[in-house]
Amino acid sequence: MRSGFGCESCGSPGVRLPADLTDDAMIQCDGCGCTLMAWGAFKRRVEAQEAADTRKPTEQRAVAASQRIAR
Ligand SMILES: [Zn+2]
Repeated sequence: MRSGFGCESCGSPGVRLPADLTDDAMIQCDGCGCTLMAWGAFKRRVEAQEAADTRKPTEQRAVAASQRIAR
């Protein structure tokens, strides 16, 4: 099963986070550099996927998720 974060163009699961983590900053594919989605949308995705873990703030969880899939 796909994680849902894979790039549709090159299939890379890695993402490049924007330097400025505002909700409308775009995150890019680490493989081909294409624009994937806005940080705000990415956060909501992580929120939906990891709704069970409410101990950490969304921001932290989204960053952790992006780092996990980048490996
Ligand atoms: Zn790509």
